[in-house]
Amino acid sequence: MIVSICTDVALMREHIAVWRASGKRIALVPTMGALHPGHLALISAAKEVADRIVVSIFVNPKQFAPSEDFTTYPRHLEADGAAIEDAGGDLVYAPDLEAMYPPDFATSIHVEGPATVGLEDRFRPTHFQGVTTVVAKLLMQVQPDAAIFGEKDYQQLRVIERMVVDLDIPVEIYAVPIMREESGLALSSRNVFLDNEQRVRAPAIQRALHVCAEAIRTGQAIDESLDAARRMIEDAGFAIDYVEARRAEDLAPLEEGHAKSGRILAAVRAGDIRLIDNVAIDGSL
Ligand code: AMP
Repeated sequence: MIVSICTDVALMREHIAVWRASGKRIALVPTMGALHPGHLALISAAKEVADRIVVSIFVNPKQFAPSEDFTTYPRHLEADGAAIEDAGGDLVYAPDLEAMYPPDFATSIHVEGPATVGLEDRFRPTHFQGVTTVVAKLLMQVQPDAAIFGEKDYQQLRVIERMVVDLDIPVEIYAVPIMREESGLALSSRNVFLDNEQRVRAPAIQRALHVCAEAIRTGQAIDESLDAARRMIEDAGFAIDYVEARRAEDLAPLEEGHAKSGRILAAVRAGDIRLIDNVAIDGSL
């Protein structure tokens, strides 16, 4: 089967309606395209929980600040379609920008609470408004039974879970562990922008987070462990936006004594390239 690529919401819904009428369970995998094996792991996970898989590809301008890389973000729709087909996706939904946000578009979602405070939001203040608005739209458009997100964007995952609960959106959210290169570097569509030297140095980010997790796990003070990780990352030549430890389930501040249930989250920069990563303190994936 050649996977269908729909750019039109009505056409996409016609496919979904046929599947629904025959009792199929539908999963949505939202992406911004430029797919790599991390995205494909989300499709595999979707296949475990649903009969038909819709992969959306939409580079969402509302989640980029004016200074960010919206115009240069990699776009490879044809290659993505082929990769989705190989991975067993059933439909690619790649809506037009104007259809998603017509000139009179005037609505946005605003999520508050611990999951939204103190990490990405400090550096990308309008980011989650953009993410939640587009994810809410995609969920309304596709009305899937399940939606799959990566732990790579851990704060995003928790913010979306919050939104779905708060707005009673009838969808089950599934999380997929981070897929990494052999070097340990988390796969990201932005890794193509790393030059050779940055690529050699980038695995130090994950190593620092693991050393930090291990230190906290074995009883060292959280603040000291985070400082050591920050130094390791800086020594590898990256500028730090944040390296923080949070409670995994809701990203509230992590208290000493309860650290094993925590997550260490980081965002760092190599020139204009911004990389994020996170690890579980308990040493699980
Ligand atoms: P993006 O296209 O970067 O917006 O990502 C789309 C989805 O893929 C999000 O749920 C991401 O968290 C997830 N994702 C991206 N990279 C990875 C990775 N290396 N491992 C697991 N999930 C990922």
